[in-house]
Amino acid sequence: MTQSETIAAIATPPGEGGIGIVRISGEDAIHTASKIFRPRGKKIGSLSEAESYHAVYGDIIDGADVIDEAIAIVMRAPRSYTREDICELQCHGGAVVTRAVLSLALKNGARLAERGEFTKRAFLSGRLDLSQAQSVMDIVGAKTESALRVAQGHLSGRFSGEIKSCRQKILGTIAHLEATIDFPEDDIDDVALDEARSSISRINEKIGSLLSSAHTGRILRDGLLTAIIGRPNVGKSSLLNHMLREERAIVTDVPGTTRDSIEEHAEIAGVPLRIIDTAGIRETSDAVEKIGVKIAERYIDDAELVIAMLDSSQPLTDEDIKILSRLKAQNKDVIYLLNKSDLAPAIGENEILSIIGAPSPDVVIFSTRTSQGEKELEDAILKRVYGGKKMEADEGIMASTEREADILRRASMSLRAALDSIESGMSEDFITIDLRAAWETLGEITGETVGDDIVDEIFKKFCLGK
Ligand code: GDP
Repeated sequence: MTQSETIAAIATPPGEGGIGIVRISGEDAIHTASKIFRPRGKKIGSLSEAESYHAVYGDIIDGADVIDEAIAIVMRAPRSYTREDICELQCHGGAVVTRAVLSLALKNGARLAERGEFTKRAFLSGRLDLSQAQSVMDIVGAKTESALRVAQGHLSGRFSGEIKSCRQKILGTIAHLEATIDFPEDDIDDVALDEARSSISRINEKIGSLLSSAHTGRILRDGLLTAIIGRPNVGKSSLLNHMLREERAIVTDVPGTTRDSIEEHAEIAGVPLRIIDTAGIRETSDAVEKIGVKIAERYIDDAELVIAMLDSSQPLTDEDIKILSRLKAQNKDVIYLLNKSDLAPAIGENEILSIIGAPSPDVVIFSTRTSQGEKELEDAILKRVYGGKKMEADEGIMASTEREADILRRASMSLRAALDSIESGMSEDFITIDLRAAWETLGEITGETVGDDIVDEIFKKFCLGK
């Protein structure tokens, strides 16, 4: 595959909509587009005369047939998304019409783009680094505003900028140490070593702080997988509805109505939650409910956070005690909600403590009816995401994927190894080997030191037309 091949794809989602866009990129993009688009009016005779970034009104044509009315925009290299010539054809947004326009483009010299190929070309041409390219997908897939903010921070290059600056400093330190190696008759002087030591420590601290934000970044990007559990009728569906502020789960007075677990996306205090509403852990002979119970158990295992609900207006039942004991045995991160606080209380925090025995669990007196405890629930969730401190200004400067976190961890290990070599008086060669490894590793984030296979792997996850 050569990069100059001209590619085409439908860039808008399938289905019906106001407009549908077919995007063509590559050396022949404008030539291909001019064969299937005829400008109306007298200003220009063909798209090849169109000015960059100027909309041209006309018709999509197949020989003598008019397929659709459309607007074409030409973006000439290198000032385009891919840095190649691009032409975007905006036609009516229907599955058949966009497919017809695409197949015309394919008949006239383009080939179908692979997933993520436009963005991959933007990466290969140096317009975006790998971290920025990945963030394009995160922007498209962002489920909450905070996820979008993190992705925007990546796309703007602020995160990559930090990584590039760390790499630059590592190179500087290597050069400094190597300069002393060139004079083997002198012992490497203590001043040079001291400088290297403090420079490496500073870089490692920076990486440490990026790494410590990775937990937050990942949650803001992917959402915190949260399971709401509790026996039937404690108010799980009501809580979910309360969080979603719309009637999704069916709320009834009959125990055990929420049979299947559903996953919903909600945002609490800016934190995206992927909430699994489980059917409640319950021993039952009902076949459908048994499946629900199985799902509940599995999700407790998978969940990063469990919201355990109890009905505070009633004494603890055997079922409640079973659920609490199971959570205790599994050592899960749990927020306990004592729901229905608007009714006369039959149980309080002490009853829970007597079973779970944890030193200071989060117990929130709550009511889905009056919203009592909402603020405390938000605080309990924020504590888990930001570790107590609210991070706002620098939200873009955080690792947001496990891949990035893993790279930072490996780079930090190499830097620590370099520091150990200094401490134990090893020769400069040993120190620079580890520094080089750290430099190489960090380059995997920006894509400067990754192989084609990893690049392919990353772009395969993109959607068509992106
Ligand atoms: P689930 O089976 O755990 O999902 O429980 P539901 O959400 O279906 O709620 C069961 C019943 O409890 C419904 O009649 C709700 O209206 C009621 N309920 C839920 N939350 C509260 C609350 O905070 N106060 C009171 N008084 N009733 C509630």
